[in-house]
Amino acid sequence: MIWKFFLLALAASAAVNIWQPHTVSAASRPHIIVLATGGTIAGRAASSSDVTGYQSGVIGVDTLLNAVPKIQDAADVKGEQLSNIDSKDMTDDIWRRLAARIHEILTANEADGIVVTHGTDTMEETALFLSLTVKSEKPVVLTGAMLPATARNADGPRNLTDAVRVAANPESAGKGVLVVMNGEIHAARNVTKAHTTKIDAFESPDSGPIGRIDPSGIVFERSPLPPMQPQFSAELPLPRVDILYGHEGDDGALVEAALHAGAEGIVYAGLGNGSIPAEAEKQLAKAAAAGVVVIRASRTKGGAVVPAAPSYATEGFIDSGALNPQKARVLLRLALTKTQDPAEIQKIFREFSYCIPCQKMIQ
Ligand code: ASP
Repeated sequence: MIWKFFLLALAASAAVNIWQPHTVSAASRPHIIVLATGGTIAGRAASSSDVTGYQSGVIGVDTLLNAVPKIQDAADVKGEQLSNIDSKDMTDDIWRRLAARIHEILTANEADGIVVTHGTDTMEETALFLSLTVKSEKPVVLTGAMLPATARNADGPRNLTDAVRVAANPESAGKGVLVVMNGEIHAARNVTKAHTTKIDAFESPDSGPIGRIDPSGIVFERSPLPPMQPQFSAELPLPRVDILYGHEGDDGALVEAALHAGAEGIVYAGLGNGSIPAEAEKQLAKAAAAGVVVIRASRTKGGAVVPAAPSYATEGFIDSGALNPQKARVLLRLALTKTQDPAEIQKIFREFSYCIPCQKMIQ
């Protein structure tokens, strides 16, 4: 079975031959470590035509790297298996181990850059977590695949090769954590998974990707907004924060459930510019008065959540800025390890979400 996979993966890598890296002399090859966490890129199905009924996170990192031997032309690449899971099951413990290992590799100069292979479902959350916790100028690049490794037209070989090329490129340094998928380079702050099944499932709403990988090489098309300056410890236990999804007729009954479960924060995926139906607002205001931090985010895909109804400010709700609800949750959990003060947390959100209208509000 592994042989069958291996041949299929080799065939897939041959099929995308134009994406193979340019050869660099052995002496000057950068060192890249691939930390594998699982995902569809390491997924296996019973047949090469099965692209949905497969198991994520089963194939080991060495097999994935051996399937793209030419990757070694771009860099001296080594793999390490950190976990092998479907990223829907990502945990705080894996996040902590991942951040610690990246920190260790980069500070001990074990590598010039890191690639993290990851399931696409929570890739944006892990990318943001690493942005906020790992201090290094060296490139940290996440990648994955939308089709399992056994698929006839698997996208994993190309994405892995592209990610290594980006991590090995000196121009990628100092740009913060990056996500490379389908020939595009995205900044961690902006990127989101925007489609359930398409190969080009990743987008950076409003801003677009910061670069691309094409046959001529890696092209950074624009400078990212200032990369996040990581300020949080990955080692501390993270408090519970729940996301509640706004909708017509929301009476706020789930606020009580979140409090009952021990939430120290609630991200409300609000309507439009973070609007909250009146009954839900009452429940959230009670929670905020009891010391639970409430963030107003938006269930829309683009734009930033900026100050709206005066009642929201009076109730102490915080605007998420340009962070979507799942990213706002990651930032809030980390922010709560430092402070419970809503005014301080609002400042943190203004700084990290870096939405243009929010920046104007700080000045
Ligand atoms: N469910 C998979 C995962 O997130 C999807 C993927 O990797 O594309 O691990």
